[in-house]
Amino acid sequence: MSSAPNLPTLAKSVTTAMTVTINHAICNACGICREVCPEFAIHPKYLEIRHLYEVDPRRCTGCGECLAYCPAPGALIQSA
Ligand code: SF4
Ligand code: SF4
Repeated sequence: MSSAPNLPTLAKSVTTAMTVTINHAICNACGICREVCPEFAIHPKYLEIRHLYEVDPRRCTGCGECLAYCPAPGALIQSA
């Protein structure tokens, strides 16, 4: 019996459905998440009198980079 041919491994092109939101009760508005986000998905919350940030769900890929740098545990919430 011949063995199966070596098929090329499919690239992992499936993007995650995870997105991140900011809990403003915990967030200290340091802006680090905005600096490190590779998708430029975090921006100041316009029309907000305090200097708060928000995540654009259309840009966020759920990569989790921002969570690794956030100094306020629980401020960034990753959800499906
Ligand atoms: S999960 Fe990734 S893409 Fe989404 S806001 Fe954080 S760093 Fe940006
Ligand atoms: S890194 Fe964390 S504490 Fe700083 S602005 Fe982003 S969510 Fe808020």
